[in-house]
Amino acid sequence: MKITEHIKKANGKTLFSFEVIPPKKGNNIQELYDNINPLMEFKPPFIDVTTSREEFVYIHKENGLLDRKITRMRPGTVGICAAIKHKYDVDTVPHVLCGGFTKEETEYVLVDCQYLGIDNVMALRGDAMSHQKYFEPNHEGNHYALDLVRQIQNLNSGKYLHDVVESSNKSDFCIGVAGYPEKHIESPSLQSDLKRLKEKVDAGADYVVTQMFFDNQKYFQFVQAARDIGIKVPIIPGIKPIAVERHLQLLPQVFKIDIPESLISNIESCKTNKEVRNVGIEWAIEQSKELLAAGVPVLHYYSMGKSDNIKAIAKALF
Ligand code: FAD
Repeated sequence: MKITEHIKKANGKTLFSFEVIPPKKGNNIQELYDNINPLMEFKPPFIDVTTSREEFVYIHKENGLLDRKITRMRPGTVGICAAIKHKYDVDTVPHVLCGGFTKEETEYVLVDCQYLGIDNVMALRGDAMSHQKYFEPNHEGNHYALDLVRQIQNLNSGKYLHDVVESSNKSDFCIGVAGYPEKHIESPSLQSDLKRLKEKVDAGADYVVTQMFFDNQKYFQFVQAARDIGIKVPIIPGIKPIAVERHLQLLPQVFKIDIPESLISNIESCKTNKEVRNVGIEWAIEQSKELLAAGVPVLHYYSMGKSDNIKAIAKALF
């Protein structure tokens, strides 16, 4: 079922959902299930599965030179979505990236999703590779998430890249895109970023999931500004509980987001990692309570591979 249908069916009740990361290759899927199991009592209608792009590795050759190869540490998003969907009878949302994929590869990913009964996809550009300063698209790939939304919409209208396919069974993907209450790191301004978001929605995106934020006012202002420029689709807040003290530096550096002073001082006064984790949980609960009261359609949590803190938050709210 589409995310938009889940939201409609909930009839104003806020839903609970979360995002998981595929295991590193070589590991068993059981660890992922062990993290999902404790969250299923809160009846998430959907679970997102992230995709990570390729990285270069350098292999030492016998002649002393280095050979550059491409590798993916966490492959298998669509397979994992299918496994979770069938194990738990829940909708799953694979994240589909521009970065590192040709349009043809993307088409095959989407065709697989259709075969597997996956109704939703999250269309994202992806980031630069770790050695790059700026994002560079694959020369046969999509440049912006907007281009990816267009490719998915084309498929929804039966238009494949190179083939004319006579089909009475077109795809009908519900498309999610990313939104940034504190603007995307590369964007010259929040307003300019919002215009880019509107382009994605105008091209056919059905809903938005936000980047994490720690100050709800940023989300409320973002939603208002989005409504003001005519973005009407659901805007789902993404919540991440701080889990380690290092997040105080890491999250602003990677995502260009602000952390409120009181959260910083609460974390800095902790003496153990457990205390930090508890402060993160408490903050996320307070944030979520206010968002619930404001009637957000879904509270979507970034689990980053561990679910104990998300469970504690969900228990206090759902
Ligand atoms: P876009 O919408 O393409 O925007 C990227 C930048 O380009 C923005 O600054 C925008 O303002 C600008 N822009 C857009 N169109 C144009 C144009 N025509 N001309 C000039 N500038 C333009 N990353 C992963 O690698 N894997 C994941 O699974 C993943 N999941 C995510 C889930 C969520 C909810 C969020 C919020 C982010 C996620 N990301 C993920 C991170 C995301 O890939 C990065 O934030 C990336 O840098 C931007 O992706 P986007 O889809 O927002 O890009």
